[in-house]
Amino acid sequence: MMLHMIPYLSGRIGIMAAMPEELQTLLDAMLDETVVVKAGRQFWVGHLCGREVVVVLSRIGKVAAAITTTVLLTDFGVDQVVFTGVAGGLGDGVRVGDVVVADALIQHDMDASPLFPRFELPGLGTSTLQPPADLTHLVHEAVQQVLSLDSLAEGGALSGVHLDVLGLPQPKVHRGLIISGDQFINAATASAALRQVLPQALAVEMEGAAVAQVCHDFGVPFAVIRTISDRADDDAHVDFPRFVSAVARHYSLAMVFALLRLQ
Ligand code: SAH
Repeated sequence: MMLHMIPYLSGRIGIMAAMPEELQTLLDAMLDETVVVKAGRQFWVGHLCGREVVVVLSRIGKVAAAITTTVLLTDFGVDQVVFTGVAGGLGDGVRVGDVVVADALIQHDMDASPLFPRFELPGLGTSTLQPPADLTHLVHEAVQQVLSLDSLAEGGALSGVHLDVLGLPQPKVHRGLIISGDQFINAATASAALRQVLPQALAVEMEGAAVAQVCHDFGVPFAVIRTISDRADDDAHVDFPRFVSAVARHYSLAMVFALLRLQ
């Protein structure tokens, strides 16, 4: 495994977004990007906040995200990866509009039992992959700042996001387990089943733990940040598109900027 030598959030940073709307918001902020096409994906190479970045749409699902991550690491030589996207909330008190920073990730649909315990990644001897604790800490602090009352106020980084109009409370940042699988969870029965087998899970999505596995194998630090777009229940499909365009893409931009501006 490669030894990580450069400080977190410096060097060349790969930024992955799950949805085209979020990607566009980031691309609009990049002034010097050139596009390179690999594996049918467009990689946007340039600068954000004075830092070298490669921005790419992960595509939806674990395999697609794993391919995108592998190309980011092998063809573009990024030093670290930041994933920003939306997710369904599972944990108590994890509400729409909140943000979850992963300190651990599990693939909830991995099950090679009885050969391996349920959720264990064959060959890795574990089910749980963890981003570096120092990086998670930095990301958590930055996100906390972004979601403060100050940034939601007039003139702040999120002043264009009118949470009250959407009936959303002041957002909170959570740090904990994010689970990933190749299913959009939009039924209360499905989310209850996940909560039962993985009670510590705060959020469910479709890419994070795959990105984590690739970064783990290449020894590259990574962070996964998810804005809660729905509660992974019967209303999930209704909440979803409106939330991404009204809230999540603004959060993503503000959070990525806050991270890139860290010294
Ligand atoms: N109905 C949406 C589906 C997109 S897939 C559409 O038509 O565009 C959902 C994306 O958001 C995935 O990238 C996944 O990581 C994340 N996500 C948000 N809520 C989710 C949930 N409840 N279950 C699984 N993934 C979710």
